[in-house]
Amino acid sequence: MNPQKEVRGDMEKPIEHYWHLRLKVVKEALEANQFEVFLADDVGEAKKIVKEQILPTTGAKSVSWGGSMTFLATGLYEEIKKIPGLEVLDTFDRSKSGQENTDLRRRSLLVDLFITGTNAVTEGGMLVNLDMMGNRACSINYGPKHVVILVGRNKIVSELDDAMYRIKNYAAPVNAMRLDKKTPCVKTSYCEDCKSPDRICNVWTITEKSYPKGRIRVVLINQDLGL
Ligand code: SF4
Repeated sequence: MNPQKEVRGDMEKPIEHYWHLRLKVVKEALEANQFEVFLADDVGEAKKIVKEQILPTTGAKSVSWGGSMTFLATGLYEEIKKIPGLEVLDTFDRSKSGQENTDLRRRSLLVDLFITGTNAVTEGGMLVNLDMMGNRACSINYGPKHVVILVGRNKIVSELDDAMYRIKNYAAPVNAMRLDKKTPCVKTSYCEDCKSPDRICNVWTITEKSYPKGRIRVVLINQDLGL
């Protein structure tokens, strides 16, 4: 390797280089917590990893997903639906009625492969999530045989407290705005720990380790993605 070339590359893309180093540290921390971890430079590479390295090894016959802007950004949502022989429980299908979607979410708790994002990942290697209904958080932790978590670099935080602060004071208010919820955070940008019927913050999960080992695969992506 030419050291001079290496330095020039770092200088040209210092932000990507910074995050490349950070992502490697988080990868090691997650691996120590029994997650299987992949590194991707961008959403295109993340999609390739899921399609070519993860999907075939799971032998999955059924797949579903939980709310994740990162998952949509990879393009996997469209591509997976085209795979022949794979049963797709599409909980994002707007043409379905509310009841049909509720049924799909319940059935998706038992699919072979569940794909989603995470609200935060700590540098110590924990996944932290907050759900309105809990279907995504539950599927991450129990039910589906295999889970894939797609994570943009912006989701990395130092500690559990930072994760919870980030989620309650950034991810949740922005999500409430995106979903047109009638909650106080939509007006103030701060979490007011509301009692609104529209409250989207109901179920917390902290995934400290993957059990069994490797059940949860994490793809760390060197881009800012999702909330
Ligand atoms: S608890 Fe209520 S105010 Fe706080 S972030 Fe959630 S929806 Fe917004």
